[in-house]
Amino acid sequence: MLVLVVNCGSSSVKYQLFDMPKKISVAKGSIERIGEARSLLSHKSQKRDTLHKTVTAKDHKRAMQILFDALTCDSCGVLDRPDDIKAIGHRVVHGAEIFKNPALINKKVLKSIRGLSRLAPLHNPPSLAGIAGCISVLPEVKQVAVFDTAFHQTIPDKAFTYAIPYEYYKKYRIRRYGFHGTSHKYVATEAARVLKRPLSRLKLVTCHLGNGCSVAAVEKGKSVDTSMGFTPLEGLAMGTRSGDIDPAIVKFLVEKERIPVSKVIEILNKKSGLTGLSGIGNDMRDILKAKDRGDNRARLAIDVFVYRIKKYIGAYAAAMDGLDAVIFTAGIGENQGRIRQMVAGGIRGLLKKFKTRILVIPTNEELMIAEETYGLLKR
Ligand code: ADP
Repeated sequence: MLVLVVNCGSSSVKYQLFDMPKKISVAKGSIERIGEARSLLSHKSQKRDTLHKTVTAKDHKRAMQILFDALTCDSCGVLDRPDDIKAIGHRVVHGAEIFKNPALINKKVLKSIRGLSRLAPLHNPPSLAGIAGCISVLPEVKQVAVFDTAFHQTIPDKAFTYAIPYEYYKKYRIRRYGFHGTSHKYVATEAARVLKRPLSRLKLVTCHLGNGCSVAAVEKGKSVDTSMGFTPLEGLAMGTRSGDIDPAIVKFLVEKERIPVSKVIEILNKKSGLTGLSGIGNDMRDILKAKDRGDNRARLAIDVFVYRIKKYIGAYAAAMDGLDAVIFTAGIGENQGRIRQMVAGGIRGLLKKFKTRILVIPTNEELMIAEETYGLLKR
């Protein structure tokens, strides 16, 4: 069964076509710079030509048509007709408390996802546009929404509740949601396979260290805590995000810099973390090189980054009272052995006490979405 996975960002669409349940990736690609005068299509498949070309995609709906054209094109396509695709799985960032599992898309589900745009104004609207684009090309094909937040819906109230007046939770649902759930779930499941132990017996900490970074405590296969919060801004120091700060800093900056709150939040999202500390950028490779040249701010950026990860691992080992394995994944987690060594080297006592294994497991959110989609439709 061919399952198409679609991941819409604010100005991009990434896609991958899988043959399920064989888990074979048939083709994948992306359309970037949607909304600009010239958008970029990249399309790859194992057996056909790779395609890179400029296209005109004024919005996500048009981008979806371009995507289906690429999948069926004479020289690079892999399908005779779009309706060879039997299911489409969409990554949707925010499912809040409504979606604890993947959901078959219908009018009611779409209305709920639209309603949640207030919690994820940058993320949910592009997903909705992508879903609409797929419906317009393939109205009969079943589509499934897979939420970044869903895996973390098992977090108990003591860990998801902020210690602010309770009425704000009741009124606005302000709480920890957590993100990267698909990735944390995937690597936790893979870790059990690698360790040859049932997931139901394991206490794991999964570290997703990409541009966005988050840590999750996974006990018996369920997320019991995670570092991202109400938004993806909380937790670890990231490529451009600050992670945890004292909220009083926001007011202080508003007054001292004479800028609006929205500007401060933008700075915390886009100009902080590794970028803000190092002054170099958000790419860990460049920062490590600068550190090796003796650049003190690069050294500091890395120290802050590593220290925060260590603190979270320690906190989650305490929260679960055990730690069978720490799993590293995503760009930095998979490729930067030095960062892994700095983290693990700094918590040797803890790792020894719990006989913790350190694993590197490449994440595969697209495959996980294909599996969730296939699993839901097979039932
Ligand atoms: P995103 O969250 O945007 O998907 P990635 O998972 O690609 O990002 O992570 C980006 C980070 O991973 C960057 O800091 C980059 O330096 C690092 N990274 C990615 N690939 C490699 C690699 N092959 N070697 C070393 N570092 C890498």
